[in-house]
Amino acid sequence: MRLRHIRGAEQAIATSPYVIQQPQEYRGRFAQLFGNRNPLRIEVGMGKGRFIMELAARNPQVNYIGIERYSSVLLRALQKREELALPNIYFLCEDARLLAEIFAPGEVDRIYLNFSDPWPKDRHAKRRLTSPDFMRLYDQILKPDGTVEFKTDNQDLFAYSLESIPEAGWRVDAFTRDLHCSPMAEGNVMTEYEMRFSAAGNPICKLVASR
Ligand code: SAM
Repeated sequence: MRLRHIRGAEQAIATSPYVIQQPQEYRGRFAQLFGNRNPLRIEVGMGKGRFIMELAARNPQVNYIGIERYSSVLLRALQKREELALPNIYFLCEDARLLAEIFAPGEVDRIYLNFSDPWPKDRHAKRRLTSPDFMRLYDQILKPDGTVEFKTDNQDLFAYSLESIPEAGWRVDAFTRDLHCSPMAEGNVMTEYEMRFSAAGNPICKLVASR
């Protein structure tokens, strides 16, 4: 994602009712924030948030939190969010490395990773959101039967993930290298990147992992 600092982004985020300002204070009690005990699903690296806002609109019986570390990107999601009356979604402007400080063990029901940054250099492999280090982090916050769902058009990152995920002790339950022509496409919600890359003719890969 091309990043450009947008003046006023931090201020807009700091005062937005849709952004959880001190998420650590809700650790273990996000149900109170939503006012119900519905399952909690998160997207890590949500970008402009098309995917998670569409999921929230389709599934009012599920709670959603979208996480994006860059304020200039999150600002775009907030602008769209303001047009929607959705009681079941909030955002966090945080780095995914802090997930275990934000969510209590077993508090999250599902984690979505969509078109995560590929970090192609070997020396940056630990930054990939499907690296064993990140999978161990997800292990700390996901409930026992929770899942991680990962989509990308990047063949190298996908091949890496098919190895790194089992390396971290997880099971890959299902995968496809051409999502849009696969039974796994049922109910698929396209992300911004997915729309762009599939329009360019790139096949979309998806996997679902559990422990
Ligand atoms: N998921 C969106 C989509 O599919 O359209 C955006 C994909 S974009 C390539 C990846 C996004 O993940 C970027 O906005 C980036 O800032 C965010 N991101 C990458 N690493 C992150 C991290 N460690 N914590 C939070 N966000 C992260």
